Amino acid sequence: MICFAGIDVGSTAIKVAVVDEDGCIAGVHVTASGSLFHRNSTEALNTLLARLHLQRSDVRYMIATGYGRKLFKDADDSVSEITANAIGAFESGRALGGVRTIINIGGQDSKAIHIDDNGNVVNFVMNDKCAAGTGRFLDVAARNLELDLEELGDYHFKGDTPPLNINSTCTVFAESEIIGLLANGHGKPEIIAGIHYSIASRTVRLAKRIGIENRVYFDGGPALNRGLVAALQDELGRELVIPEHPQTTTAFGAAILARGEFLAEQGLGKQ
Ligand code: ADP
Repeated sequence: MICFAGIDVGSTAIKVAVVDEDGCIAGVHVTASGSLFHRNSTEALNTLLARLHLQRSDVRYMIATGYGRKLFKDADDSVSEITANAIGAFESGRALGGVRTIINIGGQDSKAIHIDDNGNVVNFVMNDKCAAGTGRFLDVAARNLELDLEELGDYHFKGDTPPLNINSTCTVFAESEIIGLLANGHGKPEIIAGIHYSIASRTVRLAKRIGIENRVYFDGGPALNRGLVAALQDELGRELVIPEHPQTTTAFGAAILARGEFLAEQGLGKQ
């Protein structure tokens, strides 16, 4: 079988997507990045290929993207995560009614991308200076609250009182603030909802810098957290488009681009 791979070597997680010759998704895989980006990326790719009963030689073209893309040596090419995210969201968003604004929250950054009707990037804005509006904030909060990351989403809806205000503008100070709130007898749900609203309001402020056009697509690992999704929808005042695999949109976009490059090299055009 002929297939194409996209590998998103993120700060926190490595995501692999494989598409078939028609550009339809064959499978995705997510694993922790760790510190050995090349080795862990290779393992992630091999794991997915084995699950799909594919050989490495079936992969006709592979594109790497993401924070650590230069550290993965086996790809045929690499592209920025902005480009790959835009294409992935455009392709997945098509079936969901089309999108013009993409909000991505990753492990250590957050961004908003504005795309045109063909999936081209018109404008983007990125926060990679401060962890407070990123997945890192959620990871730290889960640890302080002695919960699994996956539990934060459900806790958001369990509170009897309104979400607390988390005032700290820095993850390190927020950590002390969370511990202080727990020590003062506040419940985990109110704290967690407060954290989600804090991330959501930062994200909306960031996205407003490029203007928010209708049909907003939300992706990245934190889009798996339904509490954060609810807070972001509330702050935006509109419903978000969430794909089936929000964490692997960028890897999917890289796989779509890999297929396009292969077809172009074969003189077949980007069908
Ligand atoms: P990056 O590309 O920077 O590595 P990702 O888009 O992979 O970032 O997102 C990583 C973040 O996603 C983690 O820091 C974590 O907060 C969040 N995350 C990952 N899996 C889940 C999950 N199952 N539920 C909620 N949040 C998650």
